[in-house]
Amino acid sequence: MTARTVEDPSAGCPDPAVRALVAAAFTAISSRYVLARHQIAAAVLDADGGMHLGLHLDAMVGRASVCAEAGALSAARLATGAELVAVAAVRYPKATEEATARVVPPCGLCRELLLDHAPGLRAVVHDETQLVLTPLSGLLPHKYVGTKWPAVLTRS
Ligand SMILES: [Zn+2]
Repeated sequence: MTARTVEDPSAGCPDPAVRALVAAAFTAISSRYVLARHQIAAAVLDADGGMHLGLHLDAMVGRASVCAEAGALSAARLATGAELVAVAAVRYPKATEEATARVVPPCGLCRELLLDHAPGLRAVVHDETQLVLTPLSGLLPHKYVGTKWPAVLTRS
């Protein structure tokens, strides 16, 4: 059996910010992929240029699973109070699939969570021809807004 080579979805991407985010997430999941345990990694970029990584944690009970984006958000908040500006997530293929990792958009729960903590965040998505950064708020129109938090986050 020969080791397969999985393609980095950032290869050839003309936008350096997109390429850096996707490459960081790809590198992370490439080194930590375990079938049914860790299939996705995410990278969050802060306004100071810091890159924060998260790893998907699957669980026996599905709803106990934690998305990679949530891990990256947590890592970012541990590291810095800087504004978070962009996110990308990469899914690593199973051995039975084509050997191409792919960028995946945040799930609905992550869209809610990320926008709660970073309203200006942009996400890397695959449009019809290439990877692009798009405002996350555009992927979640009519976001839930409760009364638990003030409109603007404060540190008090
Ligand atoms: Zn998610």
